[in-house]
Amino acid sequence: MDGAAHKTPGTAVIVIGDGLSGALAAAALLNRGYGVTLIGVNGRPGQGTAYADGADIHQANGPASALSADPTDPDHFSNWLEARYGRGGIPGAGADIPAADAFVPRWLYGRYAAEILQAAARGGGLTCLGAEVTDLEAGQSGVRVTLADGRQVAGSHAVLATGLHFTRPGRDPAAGAAFAPWDIARMRALPVLADVAIIGSGLSMVDAVSSLAEAGHQGRITVFSRHGRRPEPRRLAPEWPDYLTGLPDRITIRALFALVVRQCRLAIVSGGDWQSPLDLVRAHIGRWWWASDDVERRRFLRHVRSLWEVHHHRAPPLGHARVAAAASRLTHIAATVQRVEADPGQTGPGHADSRQAVTIHHRPRGGEAVLALGFDAVILSAGVEYDWRRIDRPLVRALLRRGLVRPGPLALGIDATREGRVIDRDGEAALRLFALGPLLRGLWWESTAIPDIARQSFEIAEIINPEPALVSDPGAGPWKEKVNEPD
Ligand SMILES: Cc1cc2nc3c(=O)[nH]c(=O)nc-3n(C[C@H](O)[C@H](O)[C@H](O)COP(=O)(O)OP(=O)(O)OC[C@H]3O[C@@H](n4cnc5c(N)ncnc54)[C@H](O)[C@@H]3O)c2cc1C
Repeated sequence: MDGAAHKTPGTAVIVIGDGLSGALAAAALLNRGYGVTLIGVNGRPGQGTAYADGADIHQANGPASALSADPTDPDHFSNWLEARYGRGGIPGAGADIPAADAFVPRWLYGRYAAEILQAAARGGGLTCLGAEVTDLEAGQSGVRVTLADGRQVAGSHAVLATGLHFTRPGRDPAAGAAFAPWDIARMRALPVLADVAIIGSGLSMVDAVSSLAEAGHQGRITVFSRHGRRPEPRRLAPEWPDYLTGLPDRITIRALFALVVRQCRLAIVSGGDWQSPLDLVRAHIGRWWWASDDVERRRFLRHVRSLWEVHHHRAPPLGHARVAAAASRLTHIAATVQRVEADPGQTGPGHADSRQAVTIHHRPRGGEAVLALGFDAVILSAGVEYDWRRIDRPLVRALLRRGLVRPGPLALGIDATREGRVIDRDGEAALRLFALGPLLRGLWWESTAIPDIARQSFEIAEIINPEPALVSDPGAGPWKEKVNEPD
């Protein structure tokens, strides 16, 4: 996919991050004729953590009909699957399943994203660099990024597509001894009856339990999470009448919650599925979150967030079946993990000593006392750190230090305008610096899933205007403007 940018150096749009956000933003820009320099640590555009090469049991959490990467064509992914594999041949899906209803392995989605980028780059214009961006300067005449090896790359604009940064419970370096939820190869080296802890109970926990099963593990599994809830299974629920479109942008979380619960109950008593009315919320949550004030948003975090997480972010069928199959060996502990302590002599695959390799210090929900439990191995499925002030990556620190970004609402990601123009420390919107994906969680609440990223990448490509004249003439026009966003 390497190739020379078809515009002169410095006029390409620099896309930082080569996960799904970076790949789709790059493709959308290329499709509009812009040169793109795509820079990513991974070096395999489109994959990121979510869609990296992996096992079939790690499925995308929605049917293909919900995962189009083209917001103008909802059938784009289903059609791609059919064209590539034909009906009945889709990896991981049953022979009788129509492409639109298929739950596919996530690695397959990575291929789809990579092909979208390849197709967009067919006419030239794409340069891919496998490197970490450590610094960024933005000025009137363009942007310049610095790479970890000291090289510098200039462009007309930059798009931050740096994605997810994972949390480490207790910020304890010992947590570095932990397994990733997808690391089946490493899990295979564990004793079959190893006593395993999983920190976190969301969808990555489902991946972790699936990976353990794939690795042949048959021992005890203890899941630690603050609330003790776990994801519901995703079903292909029947349609439900739209009861939300007429609602105003400003609505209290209490009123909304009551309305949604009422509709879910109605669905159950009428022989339907509560998932149908709940799923209609997704299309509106962004406008409600945007229009809310921080008091109302905090109310959502306090009272609704964990319910939303397990009922909306539901487990795909295979993963849910694996968790159900392990139920008799699985214990949930509702607790805050304070520290993970690893015995350096005991971690790693296959240790034979009877002493346990990892101690988890945790405070059970509602209690004061900190307890300690020992395990043979620990898997970190603890979720994402959205507060940039806590992320220890060079680019994140540099952007904050330079004042080019500021924390977003409730310190979830960074601040930006509706179209993704990054807002700086002084409250001014950049004309040359954009962001999309998980970084914008504070603006929309849901800004991490495939449909969000697909939409945002299109929107960014539509408003970026890399006019060569503006790039070559430092005096031409302002490079940031005062934000005047409506409430
Ligand atoms: C395990 C998992 C499963 C998921 N499953 C689903 C699903 O089924 N359906 C769904 O809709 N969503 C799912 N998601 C949500 C998912 O986050 C998004 O769909 C998407 O993968 C996010 O892509 P991204 O490019 O924004 O971030 P990432 O995937 O995190 O990619 C960012 C990339 O940028 C690189 N990078 C970061 N900083 C720099 C830098 N300074 N310089 C160079 N490179 C950098 C990173 O190394 C990384 O490769 C899942 C997420 C995870 C983690």
